[in-house]
Amino acid sequence: MSDIITKIKKQRTFAMIKPDGVMRGLTGEILRRIEVSGLKIVALKMIRATKEQIIAHYPMSDQAWVDRLGEKGLSTFEGLKLDPKQYLGTDDKTEIGRSVAQSLIDYMTSGPVVPMIIEGIQAVDMVRKLAGHTLPYKAEMGTIRGDFSVDSPAVANVERRAIHNLFHASETLEEAEREITLWFTPEEIMHYSRAGDDIMYSKTY
Ligand code: GDP
Ligand code: MG
Repeated sequence: MSDIITKIKKQRTFAMIKPDGVMRGLTGEILRRIEVSGLKIVALKMIRATKEQIIAHYPMSDQAWVDRLGEKGLSTFEGLKLDPKQYLGTDDKTEIGRSVAQSLIDYMTSGPVVPMIIEGIQAVDMVRKLAGHTLPYKAEMGTIRGDFSVDSPAVANVERRAIHNLFHASETLEEAEREITLWFTPEEIMHYSRAGDDIMYSKTY
C-alpha cells in the first residue's frame, strides 16, 4: 500500500518550454507557475534541439498521431466557415497532419528550448492543466497557453507553420516515460526534498 502511495507521490512528467517561450522571456514565469503549484522540478536544462531530437520526440511515424494533428485544426476552419481545400489545398487530415509535423520540426529547432522533468502527485495531469489547450484561442485564461499566447490553426496552417503555444507537456504517463528517457540521462535527475512537501502531502498532525 505505502509503496503505491510513494509511487503516486513521485509520478514524473516531461515538459519543455518551446523556442517562443524562451525568446519571449517567459522561462521564469513558466517555471514559477510550476513551482508554486507545489510540483517539484527534478531536471532542467537549456539546449538547442536538433532536427533528429524533434523527430524522435514527436511520434511522427504514428499514423493515428499524424491524423489527429491534421484533425485538430479542421474544426477551426469549420467554425470560421472556411473551406480548408481553398486555403490548404486539401481537407485530408493525414495530408494536413504531415504538413503540420514538418512545420513542428522548423518551429522546435528555431531557438533554444528548456526541457524539464516535473515530479509530484498526478504530475502528468497537473502539468497538462497548467499548460492549457493545444490551441491558444481555446486555452483557458489562467493557463500558460491561455494567458500568454494567441494563435489559431486557421492562420498557422495557412502560413505553413506550427501553432506557437510556448510550452510542451506529456499527455500520458507512457508518453512522459518515453520523453524523459529521450531528453535526460538518469544522472541529470536530481533527488532533493522541498520545503512544504510534508505540509502538502503528509499527515503531520
Ligand atoms: P499538445 O500535446 O497539446 O502540444 O498537442 P499535439 O501533441 O496534438 O501537437 C503538438 C504540437 O503541434 C502543438 O503543441 C502545436 O505546436 C502543434 N499543433 C497542434 N495542432 C496543430 C494544428 O492544427 N495546426 C498547427 N499549425 N499546429 C498544430
Ligand atoms: Mg502532444
